[in-house]
Amino acid sequence: MRTRAELREALAEAPRPLGLVPTMGWLHDGHRSLMQRARADDATTIATIFVNPRQFNEAADFQRYPRNEARDLAICEEEGIDLVFAPGVDEVYPPGFDTVVSVGAVARPLEGAARPGHFDGVATVVAILFDLIGADHAYFGQKDAQQVMVIRQMARDLAIPTEVIACPTVREADGLALSSRNVHLSPAERAAAPVLRRALLAARDRWAEGERSGEALRAAMQAVLGEEPLATPAYVSVADGRTLAELDRVVDGAPALLSLAVRFGSTRLIDNEPIA
Ligand code: AMP
Repeated sequence: MRTRAELREALAEAPRPLGLVPTMGWLHDGHRSLMQRARADDATTIATIFVNPRQFNEAADFQRYPRNEARDLAICEEEGIDLVFAPGVDEVYPPGFDTVVSVGAVARPLEGAARPGHFDGVATVVAILFDLIGADHAYFGQKDAQQVMVIRQMARDLAIPTEVIACPTVREADGLALSSRNVHLSPAERAAAPVLRRALLAARDRWAEGERSGEALRAAMQAVLGEEPLATPAYVSVADGRTLAELDRVVDGAPALLSLAVRFGSTRLIDNEPIA
């Protein structure tokens, strides 16, 4: 479906529960895993493919975001997705659109600090999609852990009944999290990129051995990243798993999130590892 009207008509008859997988296309095995989870849980599944201009804080990043709708539709079909909503920009943001959904504290650190306006764009488009689709469940990847928290907060605060479900990160054999952005990596950068995972696992190992200092765990990540000349770290974080506030000390029994963002040339990658 391309239009809100077509979407409304298709959804009117759809058996419930209805499961939604929102994406920006250039689908990979990470997206497939969300679709498979939706297929397992829901009587009707819908995927959306929309490269949302409002969540790109750099116009160049939006322009070069990879797109291939024919291939994406074939993947949706292979995964048994019932409906695909692939609207144009004006269908999501009709002329005169002038509202921003802006989530508070949980949207501010990490990706929120590094990418001004990013989570406003995410929360706004997901609020619109949730409202238009009225799904029972919506599936998101743990790879974008802060995004899941922002969307949960938005749905709770706006009384949107769609349940937000986080699904495990799908990785390449060498540990690199699948991402549409990986296509931009040069062969040398691609070979270097598993350093994100190695840095996270080094910190997780230190934590498992008893280290509780946030500073020491951040230093463990920086040390591994420092060994990779192609990697330029943007941030490393040891944060409270509920608020994303940076931690001086990890408290046993309370969830914490190890996360990082690293640039390889003009490509910026993120990953994370929950610990508890
Ligand atoms: P995107 O198309 O990048 O906006 O991603 C659409 C959804 O797929 C988001 O919920 C992402 O968190 C999720 N996703 C992206 N990469 C992965 C991955 N490697 N494993 C699991 N989910 C992912």
